[in-house]
Amino acid sequence: MNFLEEKILSDGSIKSGNILKIDNFLNHQIDVDIMRQIAYELKRRFKGVAINKILTIEASGIAIATMIGDLYDVPVVFAKKSETANSTDDKYVSHAYSFTHKRMNSVFVSRPYLHATDRVLIVDDFLADGQAVHALIDLVHQAGGEVAGIGIAVEKGQQKGGRTLREEGYHLESIAIIEEMDWQAQTIRFREQPQHDLTNTPIKAID
Ligand code: 5GP
Repeated sequence: MNFLEEKILSDGSIKSGNILKIDNFLNHQIDVDIMRQIAYELKRRFKGVAINKILTIEASGIAIATMIGDLYDVPVVFAKKSETANSTDDKYVSHAYSFTHKRMNSVFVSRPYLHATDRVLIVDDFLADGQAVHALIDLVHQAGGEVAGIGIAVEKGQQKGGRTLREEGYHLESIAIIEEMDWQAQTIRFREQPQHDLTNTPIKAID
């Protein structure tokens, strides 16, 4: 098991409706050390991939994206959500159905922050049906940019997002992939992934 799978088992809980709650290290309180490990692991998995921008969506993707932006030394852009944004001259607008809030959101980025020259790493906390990530891909394409990769902390492999994105040919990396979770028994089974020796990863600055 990797560090994130262990953290999910020790600190997470499963809610009805197929929701994993990890508020105490990602979705409400942020465990900076875990964010840093997620960032290092995603950077390792995208080794050799040229990236000049990180794109995420507010709010929980921002912490991970900021850590990765620091490692790559590139700008981090977060798409904003609104119930009302329409297509206008000053922003790229797409739409995503929110799995957690059960409503349609407009998702937008102001034009100065996405360009045709951008090779973008899309980052988010969760991947479920792929609505949020597809909206981000759409925004990159509207700007004429290229999606260099998609990095996710927790993929819910029982939902269709991961499968669809891989079939579409995107380089998708998810640190923890949930195969099944049982709300009543509070059990989770993760998809087997190649394990890597992280012992030499400089996870923390030593003072
Ligand atoms: P998707 O757009 O892929 O269907 O859903 C991904 C988005 O929904 C993520 O940005 C995340 O905010 C939210 N989400 C989906 N499933 C879960 C979950 O099990 N737990 C939490 N905390 N958020 C989720």
